[in-house]
Amino acid sequence: MMKVLVVEDNPLNMELVTEMLIAQGFITEGANDGEEAVRMAEKEAYDLIVMDIGLPGIDGVEATKRIRTKSRNKFIPVIALTAFAMKGDMERFLKAGFDAYLSKPINVPEFMKVIEKYKE
Ligand SMILES: [Mg+2]
Repeated sequence: MMKVLVVEDNPLNMELVTEMLIAQGFITEGANDGEEAVRMAEKEAYDLIVMDIGLPGIDGVEATKRIRTKSRNKFIPVIALTAFAMKGDMERFLKAGFDAYLSKPINVPEFMKVIEKYKE
């Protein structure tokens, strides 16, 4: 089974994302902030990371950068989850090292469609 690290500080979004992933057959682990995500990614190998951008402390962009530089999850796909949905954001996130981008509020069919692509 594929293991996903979900990084999200909003408990309702964390619950929704976790439920959708479990429904798709993934195993999930959660982090409530960027530093925790970086620590977890140093210790554990994941198959996919879903990363909120707006987080307390370091944001999702910085957390992803750190995960990309030093952890064992360097090459793991990271999907950005964010309320920043302005023109040019997609490009900015992809440039920052994310593999895909999903805007909030979370659209369930859209989320499922993107997640499907990462299933083994
Ligand atoms: Mg947030």
